[in-house]
Amino acid sequence: MSPSTASPAAPADPTAYLSDRILQIQESATIAMAKKSRELAAQGVDVINLSFGEPDFQTPQYIKDAAKKAIDDGYTFYTPVPGYLDLRQAICDKLLRDNQLTYAPNQIVVSTGAKQALSNIIMALVNPGDEVIIFSPYWVSYAAQVELAEGVAVPIMGTLENDYKATAEQLAAAITPRTKAVMYSSPCNPTGAVFSRAELSAIADVLAQHPGIFAIADEIYEYINFTEEHVSLAQFAHVKDQVITINGFSKGYAMTGWRLGYLAAHPAIASACDKLQSQITSGTCSIAQRAGLAALQGGRASADEMVRAYRRRRDLVLDLVKDIPGLVTPTPDGAFYIFPDVSAFFGRTAPDGTVINDSSDLALYLLRDTFVSAVSGDSFGAPACIRFSTAAADDKLVDAFGRIKRSLGELK
Ligand code: PMP
Ligand code: GLU
Repeated sequence: MSPSTASPAAPADPTAYLSDRILQIQESATIAMAKKSRELAAQGVDVINLSFGEPDFQTPQYIKDAAKKAIDDGYTFYTPVPGYLDLRQAICDKLLRDNQLTYAPNQIVVSTGAKQALSNIIMALVNPGDEVIIFSPYWVSYAAQVELAEGVAVPIMGTLENDYKATAEQLAAAITPRTKAVMYSSPCNPTGAVFSRAELSAIADVLAQHPGIFAIADEIYEYINFTEEHVSLAQFAHVKDQVITINGFSKGYAMTGWRLGYLAAHPAIASACDKLQSQITSGTCSIAQRAGLAALQGGRASADEMVRAYRRRRDLVLDLVKDIPGLVTPTPDGAFYIFPDVSAFFGRTAPDGTVINDSSDLALYLLRDTFVSAVSGDSFGAPACIRFSTAAADDKLVDAFGRIKRSLGELK
């Protein structure tokens, strides 16, 4: 018998052998749409990418300089799993300065982006069948990460009238004996909504009645906030130990590619995430961590400059959208998205004969017809809506919404 006939035949298509876990989830919709726009751009198409939620600013120079110095200073070795001690201390200093929260370095775990911090905490808390209540619309990866942990995502939906913020009453009504955690982002991706102190206080009071339920407060857009104040759920002292605060450097410091985020939590929870991370990625990139330390030491000045541009663009886009019949959008108080309801277009027909049945059809139509990319709302738990990033140059935004206005006007 020849060796080739003795070995088992390779499957023609290994897909069927993949785990149920991987087969049941979809690729992140934000990333899938960004990939489509990049492919079009590579073919020379004049695409305007409003699908990816990413600052269009360069990382500030002083942060880049710190990274270069880190290489020259020999920061090339494995790092402590939860992050360098001085970086964790700087994060504690930031939490005290910006959020009036007292944490010690053993309560901080630095990760490969806030995405990994979220994944760490979900994997550390959720048992199969546990329910995680998700304030909806929600950021795409929340539900997928809960499902990867074999938990059950339970959305509670905000209304347009309430700027898409689900309420403490809805939270209380959704709690069951299987509820393990609740999660939200504020400022919110995709809606830009910012929870007020009163709203978070009411949510904290619900949590206080359920000491075994944890709240994952995703504050990654903290600095991109056009209201007077950012409130952290952990500021409500009676529930502080139930709160896991997620934050990172991608948005405020325009450091998406560096992959640096963190969580702050009770020491036992931080230690569980540290243990998990020790088996998955170890400590994140040494150079990114030194850059992150410099970023924090520089305070908020660079972020404040970018925020002025985000605010101007938010106002510009709201002005442009006012002129487009059928797009109904609340005013975002933070982040860099608009999330209009587009259900007025469902059931209409495009000039090429295709019928727009839902927001996915609409996003694909806009991409085909105008080369503006956006993300359909279903992946954010809001199928009536569509998300446009406003983190693009003013002239690009004017061009994009001009194209969109023309194209939507052609739907009959
Ligand atoms: N949370 C929210 C709400 C986000 O929009 C993002 C950005 N993709 C993340 C977490 C993850 O950010 P990163 O992994 O880049 O730190
Ligand atoms: N936060 C961004 C977004 O929502 C980045 C993409 C991602 O990580 O999903 O588009």
